[in-house]
Amino acid sequence: MLSSNPIVNQPLDHPLLEEKGLELSIKRLDLIHELVPGNKFFKLKYNLLKAQAEDHHTLLTFGGAYSNHIHAVSQAAFALGMKSIGIIRGEETLPLNPTLKAATEKGMQLYYVNREDFRKKKDADFIQQLKEKFGEFYLIPEGGTNTEAIRGTREILSAEDESFTHIGTSIGTAGTFLGLIQSASLGQKILGFSALKGEFIHKEVADLSKIFDIDSNTQNQIFTDYHFGGYAKYRQSLIDFIWWFFETFGIILDPIYTGKMLAGIWDLIEKDFFPRGSKILAIHSGGLQGNEGFTFQTGIKLPTLSR
Ligand SMILES: *Cc1c(COP(=O)(O)O)cnc(C)c1O
Repeated sequence: MLSSNPIVNQPLDHPLLEEKGLELSIKRLDLIHELVPGNKFFKLKYNLLKAQAEDHHTLLTFGGAYSNHIHAVSQAAFALGMKSIGIIRGEETLPLNPTLKAATEKGMQLYYVNREDFRKKKDADFIQQLKEKFGEFYLIPEGGTNTEAIRGTREILSAEDESFTHIGTSIGTAGTFLGLIQSASLGQKILGFSALKGEFIHKEVADLSKIFDIDSNTQNQIFTDYHFGGYAKYRQSLIDFIWWFFETFGIILDPIYTGKMLAGIWDLIEKDFFPRGSKILAIHSGGLQGNEGFTFQTGIKLPTLSR
């Protein structure tokens, strides 16, 4: 069982917040575990407990070559003395990017499949083939969203967060968003910022709510216009925001998830979306392992954790 560092909410100080009569705090999930920080800690927690209870020794999951989820599974497996297998979309490219390098350094075995096969990741036949190839394993879906994951993300908010009026989070597969909705107190608004381009996420969230039997009667809202080009894309304005945020508050953001969410919140603050007196809590869901990979891929420098 992984144990987390204390979870802190860091209040931000800025003239704009004063002018608008707002409070903004960051829930620093990026600091909660050395190997498995961010929302992935919560998404994996009950999956890891279940895998151990079922006496599995190997975790297998799917992801892209820069995936935070792949990284997190490799680190969690290592921390628990388990084996891990990462089924990676696309062809192997050498040298390994920083994400896959860190994964293999923690013992993850990588297996590359083409895009067509990767789409079969939920087919029983394909899973059976993987079992014949690798032996028994505990399967964690791509992006990690399943019942256990949502159960875990319900633990992100605690009793002392009840005083916040708005909770902001980034959305990938929406597991975290749904867990927050389930655990929010009455009257709290959950604001989700989709990292991906497109309106499909509304239906995705509706479908998942049905599957996981989540009654989303809190007043939540999904924003789809802060994708900055889409997943694994970027705009210079986002890079500039990430640097500005780091220089102003000393907090590192990533360009896939947390940077977009905070750029969105900041924009909404400027546009008077939040009524005076609102107390906003933005969830820093981690993802900083990806900053090095982003620079590796694009050549664009970002603040990184110095190691
Ligand atoms: C995976 C991830 C997300 C998306 O979480 P979902 O539960 O898939 O919506 C958000 N932020 C970071 C940093 C992540 O790594």
